[in-house]
Amino acid sequence: MSRPRIPLAKDLPEELEVPLRTGRDWWYWTAGRPALDLVNTLRERWRRRVECLCGPDDVAEWLRRAGLLAMPVPVAPELVEAARELREAIDAGVRAAVAGAPTPPEAVAVIDRWVAMSAPPALTLVDGVPVLGSRDADDPVRAALAGVALDAARMLGTGERDRIRVCDAPDCSARFYDGSPAGRRRWCSMAACGNRAKVRSHRARRTAPPRTGGQADGVSRP
Ligand SMILES: [Zn+2]
Repeated sequence: MSRPRIPLAKDLPEELEVPLRTGRDWWYWTAGRPALDLVNTLRERWRRRVECLCGPDDVAEWLRRAGLLAMPVPVAPELVEAARELREAIDAGVRAAVAGAPTPPEAVAVIDRWVAMSAPPALTLVDGVPVLGSRDADDPVRAALAGVALDAARMLGTGERDRIRVCDAPDCSARFYDGSPAGRRRWCSMAACGNRAKVRSHRARRTAPPRTGGQADGVSRP
């Protein structure tokens, strides 16, 4: 069975009125895990840094689409800033992992605060079989964000950190998790950034001036 196709990220138009009223047209889900999908809600980190988690309704809808909330529920306005703070803490961990640098302690403190809000595990009987799940949370929105924090904690705190990537394309800042067997993925998506990079290098080869006979370093190349 083929996996459902995940739509690619749509590029933001050059003409864009910011701040956006809602960012939901610009969310994408290609990172491979919720912690990195959340980081990708700040678009174009390499230039305009466009906020796409724009208000309480965006937070609720993002969590629903991420599969962390069964339905959109009212979100307290202060949770918008809190969700963005969690996102930037995760990204600080991401950038440190990619650079092979120590994770900033402030980032760990923020993620840790959220991890503690996870819904406690619960064991229930379903048709005579015990099923491990989680208890109903008092605050489903906080518990859902805690689920993202837990994903970040697992990713940053294990060997999985070696599989965190930032897309190689200069005009893309997508973060993604490299789950490929060889672990050599360079682009957030082969169909978008990978393809554009191939076209660019092909064009560069075609327009490069032809090499003349005597090469400066005297080495003949194939
Ligand atoms: Zn990319």
